[in-house]
Amino acid sequence: MADDRHDTIESLLVEGRTYPPSAEFVAGARVTDRAMLEAADADPEGFWAGQAAELLTWFEPWHTVCEWDLPFATWFVGGKLNVSYNCLDRHVEAGAGDKVAYHWEGEPGDTRTITYAQLLDEVSRLANALKALGVEKGDRVNVYLGMVPELPMALLACARIGAVHSVVFGGFSADSLRDRINDAEAKVLITGDGAWRRGSVVPLKETADEALAECPTIEKVLVLQRTAHGVPMTEGRDVWWHDLVPAQSDDCPPEPMDAEDLLYLLYTSGTTAKPKGIMHTTGGYLTQVAFTHKYVFDLRPDDDVYWCAADVGWVTGHSYIVYGPLTNQTTSVMYEGSPDHPDKDRFWSIVAKYGVTILYLAPTAIRTFMKWGTEFPERHDMSSLRLLGSVGEPINPEAWVWYWEVIGGGRCPIVDTWWQTETGAIMLSPLPGLTTLKPGSATFPLPGIGADVVDTDGASVGVPGGGYLVLTRPWPSMLRGIWGDPERYRDTYWARFDGKYFAGDGVKRDDDGYFWLLGRVDDVMLVSGHNISTAEVEHALVGHHAVAEAAVVGKTDATSGQAVAAFVILKAGVEPSEALVGELRDHVGNAIGPIAKPKTILFTEDLPKTRSGKIMRRLLKDVSEDKALGDTTTLADPGVVESIKSRYLAQPGGDDE
Ligand code: ATP
Ligand code: MG
Repeated sequence: MADDRHDTIESLLVEGRTYPPSAEFVAGARVTDRAMLEAADADPEGFWAGQAAELLTWFEPWHTVCEWDLPFATWFVGGKLNVSYNCLDRHVEAGAGDKVAYHWEGEPGDTRTITYAQLLDEVSRLANALKALGVEKGDRVNVYLGMVPELPMALLACARIGAVHSVVFGGFSADSLRDRINDAEAKVLITGDGAWRRGSVVPLKETADEALAECPTIEKVLVLQRTAHGVPMTEGRDVWWHDLVPAQSDDCPPEPMDAEDLLYLLYTSGTTAKPKGIMHTTGGYLTQVAFTHKYVFDLRPDDDVYWCAADVGWVTGHSYIVYGPLTNQTTSVMYEGSPDHPDKDRFWSIVAKYGVTILYLAPTAIRTFMKWGTEFPERHDMSSLRLLGSVGEPINPEAWVWYWEVIGGGRCPIVDTWWQTETGAIMLSPLPGLTTLKPGSATFPLPGIGADVVDTDGASVGVPGGGYLVLTRPWPSMLRGIWGDPERYRDTYWARFDGKYFAGDGVKRDDDGYFWLLGRVDDVMLVSGHNISTAEVEHALVGHHAVAEAAVVGKTDATSGQAVAAFVILKAGVEPSEALVGELRDHVGNAIGPIAKPKTILFTEDLPKTRSGKIMRRLLKDVSEDKALGDTTTLADPGVVESIKSRYLAQPGGDDE
């Protein structure tokens, strides 16, 4: 990287440096004072009711804002609405039919521009096609597609007729697909022949066929042609999209749905345990998704070109590629493929081509771009960008500052958004026109959200202080349960702290009350009686110039209770050595304290990650303790953990101090 850039980044990394919103940003921002926060705090239900009325169109009003029968909440009880009507029809009726909903770019370079009017027609045809396949209100429809426009269409078509969608990420295996279909007892599967990824075909149909051999509830399969590589079709079961859908009428009246009718099922990423089938309903979900999309991203629907580069297979895609943006009549970019095809500048070429103003990424992507280097973003004019977002994991300050400087040109606020599949929408985040940013902190709860930090007894630890992140009152887009398993719902989220939702994440608040996420509490290590968070040790490690990425776990240790085991990816060109191990241990010791020094450091080429890019520490813990590996079905590449395992077991035991 250019030397001056390097110097800028180094100078920004000064501990304690903060980033107030610029006068220029504040001048056009939606929220610039605390009035909304205060009003929401004084009357959360009244606040959410106001948002529901303002942001959505209801067929019939609700009679009760929230009924709270712990742990079950219902919102906008008695209200009737339709999600696809809110995303499509009302915009077309208001004269915005020609507005672009999606600028879509296929990986091979083909493009499609889809207006709101076109999207409404396509969704209506597809909804009629689903009816023709026997889908009725309340039926579950599984969706297994790549990132093509037909994926949002499939979700909206289900919502239009009151069917429940369950999307399975297109990179998942046949077993994962089979388990999710069977858990949902889905009647129809929407899939494709294939998807483009890194220049090759992902064989969706072949994988689906393998899964379907053991899915007795599936009656029909609707198959979209994308890659045209020739796939087998099962007579009587499989139907080509192009044979069925275009022949349907484009008139399909939206079904009036109860605010509490099920909208979708979606499985968690499986970072900490076997995935859970999370249930989301209609009115409360759409309210909070629309609210957060509008205010966290400081949306200007007339000018913004918004790009959330997640996959619709994750909750981020459901809420911030499909439902939030469309409810708010946004113009979005959607990209099919991988960020390094044909070259490592693909994302930045897309930003420049469409004039993207808002970009929402995961830290795992940002760290990958850092590893690739600044030459790729530097090839393109990205001056259209005005706001950046991050979601999925704690973002380490080094990655934050790189994102700020290299991608945002030192001009764009970064909203670090904390939330979960379970929460449905963003919960903790800066409000970009109001909040002074601290790199690595998700800052504060959003208006209407109650969050606290508690100790093991559930008592608030106050400010400053560290402990468990809990949510203290129901929120509109909260999960309504785990599909088919109310007991697991109660046990997982509500059993640990009386009357509070336990998020599973560790957190600390600093002197100013900023929330700093520390990773999963299952990942907090207890070394000789001291609590050390894996995230803190990882941050220290990536703060060393030789380290690209690191994962840390606490392994059972006879003397210290737990010992810190680190797995480290070195930057390109750095050679692993015993001397470097010593240097890194000292580096962590200096940054946090001698107690946090890793007992073992294994240099590796890769880390076990979920398909959504999150490090699966529980598998590294199994490796470090020489245990059988837990659930690996959501792993991106099972080979990685096997190779780490054999190398880990071959290494000497690590030097004790
Ligand atoms: P599982 O629940 O199956 O273990 P998962 O928790 O990874 O999987 P998701 O719902 O996709 O499934 O991820 C939510 C989690 O991601 C949060 O609980 C938190 O640990 C992490 N996370 C998300 N956003 C942030 C953020 N901005 N900062 C820190 N952590 C985040
Ligand atoms: Mg989770």
